Amino acid sequence: MLDKVLIANRGEIALRILRACKELGIKTVAVHSTADESLKHVLLADETICIGKPSATESYLNIPRIIAAAEITNSVAIHPGYGFLAENADFAEAVERSGFIFIGPKAETINLMGDKVSAIKSMKAAGVPCVPGSDGPLNDDEARNKKLAQGIGYPIIVKAAGGGGGRGMRVVRSEEELIGAIAATKGEAAAAFNNDVVYMEKFLENPRHVEIQILADGQGSAIHLGERDCSMQRRHQKVVEEAPAPGITEEMRAKIGARCCQACIDIGYRGAGTFEFLFENGEFYFIEMNTRIQVEHPVSEMITGVDLIKEQLRIADGQKLTISQEQIQVRGHAIECRINAEDPDTFIPSPGKINMFHPPGGLGVRWDSHIYAGYSVPPNYDSMIGKLITYGETREVAIARMRHALGELVIEGIKTNIPLQQRIMADEAFAAGGANIHYLEKKLGLGGH
Ligand code: ADP
Repeated sequence: MLDKVLIANRGEIALRILRACKELGIKTVAVHSTADESLKHVLLADETICIGKPSATESYLNIPRIIAAAEITNSVAIHPGYGFLAENADFAEAVERSGFIFIGPKAETINLMGDKVSAIKSMKAAGVPCVPGSDGPLNDDEARNKKLAQGIGYPIIVKAAGGGGGRGMRVVRSEEELIGAIAATKGEAAAAFNNDVVYMEKFLENPRHVEIQILADGQGSAIHLGERDCSMQRRHQKVVEEAPAPGITEEMRAKIGARCCQACIDIGYRGAGTFEFLFENGEFYFIEMNTRIQVEHPVSEMITGVDLIKEQLRIADGQKLTISQEQIQVRGHAIECRINAEDPDTFIPSPGKINMFHPPGGLGVRWDSHIYAGYSVPPNYDSMIGKLITYGETREVAIARMRHALGELVIEGIKTNIPLQQRIMADEAFAAGGANIHYLEKKLGLGGH
């Protein structure tokens, strides 16, 4: 097994990785900024190195400093977590070039999937269903673009090939808006992603967000761990996730899962990954692949019993997958509520000192978080401070447990979105299951698209 792993991240995911390493007997190195000396995983790691100032560009995004920390500590592998450098192909390449193992896919795979045009192309080739679209970049030929849009049928969405974080896209409802929208998206994409390539696809009006979790060893084997429904979103940010997705039958899961596994084998995928789909009228439409572990991975762990981080570590060690598809049985239901340090009404971040803290507990309750009483949430990073996950034999049991667990969770000194999560758990449409991606914004009076 890997001897020592450097964790190139912070917060709850750094702690999650540290826990998996400890279980496998792997030594851990925590790198941190000057704002993060008292992070829980920093206090628990075998070795710690301060890599810079609070600003992420000076620390968690600083490739040379992270590599230097790996060299100084004789680490053998680097786990990037999610966010920060997790999907940065230059980082993956620098890590491997410096003689360390990158816990994730090869840099070329990150590049292939990071460009949405090339990702869609390779997914289509592998038989993964995609949104009907331009099948490639748009050029300056206005007549061609109009014809493409007509062929797809309005409304369409113009998207940046290099886009991310829900930015760089524009919905177009009629031909009059088309040419202006392409130019505007191109301009925005050039400025934001340094890549002005745009493409178009059919705009689905009321889809759900359903994604497939996969594990591939890069040695010819890939399995899927079923799907998650992440339709409860605000500004393209997931707020609640669950597994399995309401209404997805075992046959549908097996079919789409097999396609994703085949795609992994075709592109030589290595590690954990997620195929994101929009799901409408019983059909899956691929939108993008995330080449890393995701925030919401625990709900898949709860319903399958597989520890995804431990599997990532084993794959990085060069081991073949030992779990077969037949061994993956979806059992029960799991829900995750993201707990953010923010005002529940205005969503303005609320950093500061936590002066009282009580975690929830009991059967089927999991709390993945780095916070503790006396901990100060720094203002420099994402406002997510924990994930509350509940499991039950049925969806109803998981929701009932979540309601109670949210009531038990006490975080004082800062504002949190616990009241918002309580509202969602009491919502009738959520209880019914299968709400679409616009539901939460409409409920909150924010309009949506
Ligand atoms: P990003 O990489 O920025 O997250 P995605 O391609 O994953 O971009 O799209 C983000 C979100 O934008 C989706 O979850 C969905 O809400 C919306 N979206 C993207 N493509 C479409 C589409 N073809 N039809 C409807 N909504 C879309």
